[in-house]
Amino acid sequence: MNNKILVTQSSMPRIEEYMDEIEGLWDSHWLTNMGAKHKALQQELKGYLDVENVELLTNGHMALELTLQAMNLQGEVITTPFTFASTTHAIVRNGLKPVFCDIDPVTYTMDAEKIEDLITDHTCAVMPVHVYGNVCNVEEIERIAHKYELKVIYDAAHSFGETYKGQGIGNFGDASCFSFHATKVFNSIEGGAVCFRDQRLGNALYELKNFGIHGPEEVSAVGANAKMNEFCAAMGLCNLRHVDEEIDKRRLVAERYRSHLEGVEGLQLNRVQPEVRFNYAYFPIVIDEKAFGASRAEVFDRLAEQGIGARKYFYPLTNTFSCFHREYDVSEAPVALHISKRVLTLPLYADLGMEDVDRICKVILGCKV
Ligand SMILES: *Cc1c(COP(=O)(O)O)cnc(C)c1O
Repeated sequence: MNNKILVTQSSMPRIEEYMDEIEGLWDSHWLTNMGAKHKALQQELKGYLDVENVELLTNGHMALELTLQAMNLQGEVITTPFTFASTTHAIVRNGLKPVFCDIDPVTYTMDAEKIEDLITDHTCAVMPVHVYGNVCNVEEIERIAHKYELKVIYDAAHSFGETYKGQGIGNFGDASCFSFHATKVFNSIEGGAVCFRDQRLGNALYELKNFGIHGPEEVSAVGANAKMNEFCAAMGLCNLRHVDEEIDKRRLVAERYRSHLEGVEGLQLNRVQPEVRFNYAYFPIVIDEKAFGASRAEVFDRLAEQGIGARKYFYPLTNTFSCFHREYDVSEAPVALHISKRVLTLPLYADLGMEDVDRICKVILGCKV
Protein backbone atom coordinates (compact mmCIF):
# COMPACT_ATOMS: atom_id res chain seq x y z
CA MET A 1 0.00 0.00 0.00
CA ASN A 2 2.80 2.41 0.79
CA ASN A 3 4.16 2.64 -2.74
CA LYS A 4 5.46 6.05 -3.73
CA ILE A 5 3.31 8.27 -5.91
CA LEU A 6 5.05 11.06 -7.77
CA VAL A 7 3.24 14.21 -8.79
CA THR A 8 3.48 13.16 -12.42
CA GLN A 9 4.68 10.33 -14.63
CA SER A 10 5.80 10.94 -18.20
CA SER A 11 3.70 9.49 -20.98
CA MET A 12 5.60 7.02 -23.15
CA PRO A 13 4.62 4.92 -26.16
CA ARG A 14 5.29 1.21 -26.24
CA ILE A 15 9.02 0.67 -26.80
CA GLU A 16 8.35 -1.15 -30.10
CA GLU A 17 6.47 1.85 -31.44
CA TYR A 18 9.38 4.15 -30.64
CA MET A 19 11.92 1.71 -32.12
CA ASP A 20 9.93 1.60 -35.36
CA GLU A 21 9.82 5.37 -35.43
CA ILE A 22 13.59 5.85 -35.01
CA GLU A 23 14.80 2.90 -37.08
CA GLY A 24 15.16 4.95 -40.24
CA LEU A 25 17.59 7.27 -38.51
CA TRP A 26 20.20 4.49 -38.75
CA ASP A 27 19.88 4.66 -42.55
CA SER A 28 19.74 8.43 -42.93
CA HIS A 29 22.30 9.29 -40.21
CA TRP A 30 20.36 12.58 -40.04
CA LEU A 31 20.02 13.17 -36.30
CA THR A 32 19.13 16.86 -36.03
CA ASN A 33 18.96 20.09 -38.06
CA MET A 34 15.36 19.88 -39.25
CA GLY A 35 15.30 16.32 -40.53
CA ALA A 36 12.41 14.10 -41.57
CA LYS A 37 11.01 13.54 -38.06
CA HIS A 38 11.14 17.26 -37.32
CA LYS A 39 9.20 17.99 -40.53
CA ALA A 40 6.68 15.25 -39.84
CA LEU A 41 6.00 16.40 -36.28
CA GLN A 42 5.65 20.02 -37.38
CA GLN A 43 3.06 18.93 -39.94
CA GLU A 44 1.16 16.68 -37.52
CA LEU A 45 1.02 19.42 -34.91
CA LYS A 46 -0.48 21.93 -37.33
CA GLY A 47 -3.31 19.48 -37.72
CA TYR A 48 -3.70 18.50 -34.08
CA LEU A 49 -3.47 22.05 -32.72
CA ASP A 50 -5.59 23.37 -35.59
CA VAL A 51 -3.19 26.22 -36.37
CA GLU A 52 -1.63 27.63 -39.54
CA ASN A 53 1.97 27.86 -38.36
CA VAL A 54 4.19 25.91 -35.99
CA GLU A 55 7.90 26.26 -35.34
CA LEU A 56 9.50 23.49 -33.28
CA LEU A 57 12.10 24.20 -30.64
CA THR A 58 14.26 22.37 -28.18
CA ASN A 59 12.04 23.29 -25.20
CA GLY A 60 9.26 25.58 -24.07
CA HIS A 61 11.60 28.06 -22.50
CA MET A 62 13.44 28.75 -25.76
CA ALA A 63 10.06 29.11 -27.42
CA LEU A 64 9.29 32.01 -25.07
CA GLU A 65 12.76 33.50 -25.11
CA LEU A 66 13.28 33.42 -28.86
CA THR A 67 9.76 34.66 -29.60
CA LEU A 68 10.46 37.78 -27.56
CA GLN A 69 13.82 38.17 -29.30
CA ALA A 70 12.26 37.69 -32.73
CA MET A 71 9.78 40.49 -32.02
CA ASN A 72 12.61 42.92 -31.36
CA LEU A 73 10.94 44.38 -28.30
CA GLN A 74 12.10 47.03 -25.91
CA GLY A 75 10.75 48.22 -22.58
CA GLU A 76 8.16 46.62 -20.33
CA VAL A 77 6.23 43.39 -20.63
CA ILE A 78 3.09 42.92 -18.55
CA THR A 79 3.04 39.39 -17.18
CA THR A 80 2.03 37.31 -14.17
CA PRO A 81 4.12 36.27 -11.17
CA PHE A 82 1.95 33.14 -10.73
CA THR A 83 3.91 31.01 -13.18
CA PHE A 84 6.97 28.86 -13.65
CA ALA A 85 10.39 30.58 -13.53
CA SER A 86 10.64 30.29 -17.31
CA THR A 87 8.04 32.96 -18.16
CA THR A 88 9.71 35.71 -16.14
CA HIS A 89 13.22 34.60 -17.05
CA ALA A 90 12.41 34.76 -20.77
CA ILE A 91 11.48 38.43 -20.32
CA VAL A 92 14.47 39.36 -18.17
CA ARG A 93 16.95 37.45 -20.34
CA ASN A 94 15.82 39.58 -23.28
CA GLY A 95 16.71 42.76 -21.41
CA LEU A 96 13.01 43.53 -20.94
CA LYS A 97 11.36 44.58 -17.71
CA PRO A 98 8.59 42.38 -16.30
CA VAL A 99 5.63 44.31 -14.88
CA PHE A 100 3.53 42.03 -12.72
CA CYS A 101 -0.22 41.97 -13.04
CA ASP A 102 -2.35 40.26 -10.42
CA ILE A 103 -4.37 37.11 -11.12
CA ASP A 104 -7.99 36.12 -11.07
CA PRO A 105 -8.79 34.12 -7.88
CA VAL A 106 -10.85 31.51 -9.77
CA THR A 107 -8.86 30.80 -12.95
CA TYR A 108 -5.44 31.84 -11.57
CA THR A 109 -4.72 33.51 -14.93
CA MET A 110 -3.88 37.18 -15.39
CA ASP A 111 -6.71 39.44 -14.25
CA ALA A 112 -7.36 41.23 -17.53
CA GLU A 113 -9.28 44.01 -15.76
CA LYS A 114 -6.03 45.07 -14.11
CA ILE A 115 -3.87 45.24 -17.23
CA GLU A 116 -4.74 48.75 -18.41
CA ASP A 117 -3.63 50.36 -15.14
CA LEU A 118 -0.16 48.93 -15.68
CA ILE A 119 0.34 50.23 -19.21
CA THR A 120 2.93 52.99 -19.61
CA ASP A 121 4.72 54.59 -22.57
CA HIS A 122 7.28 51.78 -22.26
CA THR A 123 4.88 48.85 -22.45
CA CYS A 124 5.56 46.74 -25.54
CA ALA A 125 3.87 43.41 -24.89
CA VAL A 126 1.69 41.26 -22.67
CA MET A 127 2.77 37.73 -21.70
CA PRO A 128 -0.09 35.91 -19.97
CA VAL A 129 -0.11 32.23 -18.98
CA HIS A 130 -2.92 29.71 -19.44
CA VAL A 131 -2.33 28.47 -15.88
CA TYR A 132 -3.20 24.77 -15.25
CA GLY A 133 -4.82 24.78 -18.70
CA ASN A 134 -7.30 27.48 -17.65
CA VAL A 135 -7.75 29.77 -20.61
CA CYS A 136 -6.93 33.46 -20.10
CA ASN A 137 -9.48 36.16 -20.79
CA VAL A 138 -8.36 36.17 -24.42
CA GLU A 139 -11.08 38.54 -25.64
CA GLU A 140 -10.26 41.31 -23.17
CA ILE A 141 -6.52 40.84 -23.67
CA GLU A 142 -6.99 41.13 -27.41
CA ARG A 143 -9.07 44.29 -27.02
CA ILE A 144 -6.40 45.94 -24.86
CA ALA A 145 -3.55 44.81 -27.10
CA HIS A 146 -5.30 46.24 -30.12
CA LYS A 147 -6.09 49.54 -28.40
CA TYR A 148 -2.52 50.10 -27.19
CA GLU A 149 -0.74 48.30 -30.06
CA LEU A 150 0.89 45.71 -27.83
CA LYS A 151 2.17 42.29 -28.80
CA VAL A 152 0.59 39.32 -27.04
CA ILE A 153 2.63 36.20 -26.41
CA TYR A 154 0.82 33.44 -24.55
CA ASP A 155 2.73 31.02 -22.39
CA ALA A 156 0.68 28.02 -23.44
CA ALA A 157 2.89 25.44 -21.72
CA HIS A 158 -0.07 24.08 -19.74
CA SER A 159 -2.67 24.16 -22.47
CA PHE A 160 -1.67 21.60 -25.08
CA GLY A 161 -4.58 20.15 -27.01
CA GLU A 162 -7.16 22.62 -25.74
CA THR A 163 -9.73 24.53 -27.69
CA TYR A 164 -11.63 27.67 -26.75
CA LYS A 165 -14.95 28.31 -28.49
CA GLY A 166 -13.97 25.58 -30.92
CA GLN A 167 -10.67 27.18 -31.89
CA GLY A 168 -7.25 25.68 -31.18
CA ILE A 169 -5.74 27.49 -28.20
CA GLY A 170 -2.61 28.31 -30.22
CA ASN A 171 -4.58 30.72 -32.42
CA PHE A 172 -4.82 33.49 -29.86
CA GLY A 173 -2.40 36.41 -29.60
CA ASP A 174 0.56 37.03 -31.88
CA ALA A 175 2.20 33.84 -30.66
CA SER A 176 1.54 30.94 -28.28
CA CYS A 177 4.43 29.00 -26.79
CA PHE A 178 4.01 25.33 -25.87
CA SER A 179 6.25 23.08 -23.81
CA PHE A 180 6.68 19.41 -24.64
CA HIS A 181 8.71 18.71 -21.51
CA ALA A 182 8.54 15.20 -20.05
CA THR A 183 6.19 16.38 -17.30
CA LYS A 184 3.61 17.94 -19.61
CA VAL A 185 0.37 16.53 -21.06
CA PHE A 186 2.18 15.93 -24.35
CA ASN A 187 5.92 15.36 -24.39
CA SER A 188 8.77 14.94 -26.85
CA ILE A 189 11.14 14.21 -23.93
CA GLU A 190 12.24 17.85 -24.09
CA GLY A 191 10.67 20.09 -26.67
CA GLY A 192 8.57 23.10 -27.42
CA ALA A 193 6.79 24.94 -30.17
CA VAL A 194 5.57 28.37 -31.13
CA CYS A 195 2.30 28.87 -32.97
CA PHE A 196 2.22 32.26 -34.66
CA ARG A 197 0.26 34.48 -37.03
CA ASP A 198 2.86 36.30 -39.03
CA GLN A 199 5.20 34.20 -41.18
CA ARG A 200 7.92 36.83 -40.73
CA LEU A 201 7.98 35.90 -37.05
CA GLY A 202 8.26 32.26 -38.07
CA ASN A 203 11.20 33.00 -40.36
CA ALA A 204 12.95 34.89 -37.57
CA LEU A 205 12.37 31.99 -35.16
CA TYR A 206 13.70 29.50 -37.69
CA GLU A 207 16.94 31.45 -37.91
CA LEU A 208 17.22 32.26 -34.21
CA LYS A 209 16.96 28.60 -33.26
CA ASN A 210 19.96 27.93 -35.51
CA PHE A 211 22.47 30.60 -34.42
CA GLY A 212 20.84 33.29 -36.56
CA ILE A 213 22.22 31.65 -39.70
CA HIS A 214 20.44 33.14 -42.71
CA GLY A 215 22.40 31.48 -45.50
CA PRO A 216 25.61 29.55 -46.13
CA GLU A 217 27.66 32.71 -45.78
CA GLU A 218 25.39 34.98 -43.81
CA VAL A 219 24.60 35.18 -40.12
CA SER A 220 22.07 37.93 -39.68
CA ALA A 221 21.06 37.64 -36.00
CA VAL A 222 22.64 36.72 -32.68
CA GLY A 223 20.74 33.47 -32.36
CA ALA A 224 20.90 30.49 -30.07
CA ASN A 225 20.87 26.75 -30.64
CA ALA A 226 17.33 25.58 -30.01
CA LYS A 227 16.64 23.01 -32.70
CA MET A 228 14.53 19.97 -31.86
CA ASN A 229 16.51 16.81 -32.62
CA GLU A 230 15.17 13.78 -34.49
CA PHE A 231 14.91 11.50 -31.44
CA CYS A 232 12.77 14.02 -29.62
CA ALA A 233 10.63 14.63 -32.70
CA ALA A 234 10.18 10.84 -33.03
CA MET A 235 9.03 10.63 -29.41
CA GLY A 236 6.61 13.45 -30.13
CA LEU A 237 5.21 11.63 -33.17
CA CYS A 238 4.58 8.52 -31.07
CA ASN A 239 3.07 10.34 -28.09
CA LEU A 240 0.83 12.45 -30.33
CA ARG A 241 -0.92 9.27 -31.53
CA HIS A 242 -2.02 8.55 -27.96
CA VAL A 243 -2.53 12.00 -26.48
CA ASP A 244 -6.32 12.06 -26.82
CA GLU A 245 -6.56 8.77 -24.99
CA GLU A 246 -4.20 10.09 -22.30
CA ILE A 247 -6.27 13.23 -21.81
CA ASP A 248 -9.35 11.07 -21.46
CA LYS A 249 -7.66 9.01 -18.74
CA ARG A 250 -6.58 12.22 -17.01
CA ARG A 251 -10.19 13.35 -17.03
CA LEU A 252 -11.26 10.18 -15.21
CA VAL A 253 -8.57 10.74 -12.58
CA ALA A 254 -9.66 14.35 -12.11
CA GLU A 255 -13.30 13.28 -11.78
CA ARG A 256 -12.33 10.74 -9.14
CA TYR A 257 -10.56 13.47 -7.14
CA ARG A 258 -13.64 15.62 -7.53
CA SER A 259 -15.89 12.86 -6.22
CA HIS A 260 -13.97 12.91 -2.94
CA LEU A 261 -13.06 16.58 -2.58
CA GLU A 262 -15.93 18.53 -4.12
CA GLY A 263 -17.87 20.50 -1.56
CA VAL A 264 -15.36 19.96 1.24
CA GLU A 265 -15.26 23.16 3.27
CA GLY A 266 -11.99 25.04 2.92
CA LEU A 267 -10.93 23.41 -0.35
CA GLN A 268 -11.21 25.31 -3.62
CA LEU A 269 -11.10 23.02 -6.66
CA ASN A 270 -10.31 24.06 -10.21
CA ARG A 271 -13.34 24.48 -12.46
CA VAL A 272 -13.49 23.48 -16.09
CA GLN A 273 -14.40 26.69 -17.91
CA PRO A 274 -17.35 26.91 -20.26
CA GLU A 275 -16.48 26.65 -23.95
CA VAL A 276 -13.10 25.09 -23.20
CA ARG A 277 -12.08 21.60 -24.27
CA PHE A 278 -9.90 21.04 -21.21
CA ASN A 279 -6.73 18.93 -21.03
CA TYR A 280 -6.71 18.07 -17.30
CA ALA A 281 -3.05 19.04 -17.04
CA TYR A 282 -3.11 19.63 -13.27
CA PHE A 283 -5.32 19.15 -10.26
CA PRO A 284 -4.74 22.15 -7.99
CA ILE A 285 -6.48 22.57 -4.65
CA VAL A 286 -6.40 25.82 -2.68
CA ILE A 287 -6.53 25.21 1.04
CA ASP A 288 -8.06 27.75 3.40
CA GLU A 289 -6.58 26.75 6.73
CA LYS A 290 -9.36 28.19 8.90
CA ALA A 291 -12.22 26.59 7.04
CA PHE A 292 -10.46 23.30 6.28
CA GLY A 293 -8.82 22.79 9.66
CA ALA A 294 -5.29 22.20 8.39
CA SER A 295 -2.75 24.33 6.52
CA ARG A 296 -1.22 23.71 3.11
CA ALA A 297 2.07 22.87 4.87
CA GLU A 298 0.39 20.24 7.05
CA VAL A 299 -1.34 18.61 4.10
CA PHE A 300 1.88 18.67 2.07
CA ASP A 301 3.86 17.08 4.92
CA ARG A 302 1.23 14.43 5.65
CA LEU A 303 1.16 13.44 1.97
CA ALA A 304 4.96 13.33 1.88
CA GLU A 305 5.02 11.05 4.94
CA GLN A 306 2.83 8.65 2.96
CA GLY A 307 5.15 8.78 -0.05
CA ILE A 308 2.81 11.02 -2.03
CA GLY A 309 4.44 13.85 -3.94
CA ALA A 310 2.20 16.89 -4.19
CA ARG A 311 3.71 20.16 -5.39
CA LYS A 312 3.48 23.75 -4.20
CA TYR A 313 2.96 24.93 -7.74
CA PHE A 314 3.33 27.90 -8.11
CA TYR A 315 5.17 28.83 -4.96
CA PRO A 316 7.06 31.05 -4.49
CA LEU A 317 5.89 33.73 -6.92
CA THR A 318 8.49 34.59 -9.54
CA ASN A 319 8.60 38.24 -8.40
CA THR A 320 9.99 37.07 -5.04
CA PHE A 321 12.87 35.00 -6.45
CA SER A 322 16.22 35.75 -4.81
CA CYS A 323 17.79 36.27 -8.25
CA PHE A 324 15.74 39.47 -8.56
CA HIS A 325 17.05 40.89 -5.26
CA ARG A 326 13.69 42.28 -4.07
CA GLU A 327 13.47 44.41 -7.17
CA TYR A 328 9.70 43.96 -7.42
CA ASP A 329 6.96 45.07 -5.08
CA VAL A 330 5.23 41.85 -4.05
CA SER A 331 2.23 43.73 -2.64
CA GLU A 332 1.22 44.63 -6.21
CA ALA A 333 -0.20 41.16 -6.78
CA PRO A 334 -2.01 40.29 -3.53
CA VAL A 335 -4.29 37.64 -5.02
CA ALA A 336 -1.34 35.81 -6.54
CA LEU A 337 0.46 35.95 -3.20
CA HIS A 338 -2.62 34.64 -1.38
CA ILE A 339 -3.09 31.71 -3.78
CA SER A 340 0.60 30.79 -3.95
CA LYS A 341 0.69 30.36 -0.16
CA ARG A 342 -2.30 27.99 -0.21
CA VAL A 343 -2.14 26.01 -3.42
CA LEU A 344 -1.12 22.40 -3.83
CA THR A 345 -1.19 20.44 -7.10
CA LEU A 346 -2.01 16.79 -6.55
CA PRO A 347 -0.55 13.83 -8.46
CA LEU A 348 -2.19 13.56 -11.87
CA TYR A 349 -1.20 11.46 -14.86
CA ALA A 350 -2.96 9.12 -17.27
CA ASP A 351 -1.98 5.89 -15.55
CA LEU A 352 -2.60 7.00 -11.98
CA GLY A 353 -4.78 4.30 -10.43
CA MET A 354 -8.20 5.08 -8.98
CA GLU A 355 -7.21 3.33 -5.74
CA ASP A 356 -4.24 5.69 -5.53
CA VAL A 357 -6.54 8.68 -5.92
CA ASP A 358 -8.73 7.27 -3.16
CA ARG A 359 -5.71 6.86 -0.89
CA ILE A 360 -4.46 10.41 -1.62
CA CYS A 361 -7.87 11.88 -0.81
CA LYS A 362 -8.09 9.86 2.38
CA VAL A 363 -4.78 11.33 3.56
CA ILE A 364 -5.93 14.86 2.67
CA LEU A 365 -9.29 14.53 4.38
CA GLY A 366 -7.56 12.90 7.36
CA CYS A 367 -5.75 16.22 7.97
CA LYS A 368 -9.01 17.91 8.99
CA VAL A 369 -9.23 18.37 12.73
C1 LIG B 1 7.10 23.91 -18.37
C2 LIG B 1 6.83 25.36 -18.45
C3 LIG B 1 7.66 26.23 -19.17
C4 LIG B 1 8.99 25.84 -19.75
O1 LIG B 1 8.97 24.76 -20.60
P1 LIG B 1 10.26 23.83 -20.77
O2 LIG B 1 9.87 22.96 -21.92
O3 LIG B 1 10.45 23.08 -19.51
O4 LIG B 1 11.42 24.71 -21.10
C5 LIG B 1 7.28 27.56 -19.28
N1 LIG B 1 6.17 28.02 -18.69
C6 LIG B 1 5.36 27.23 -17.96
C7 LIG B 1 4.13 27.81 -17.34
C8 LIG B 1 5.68 25.88 -17.80
O5 LIG B 1 4.89 25.10 -17.04
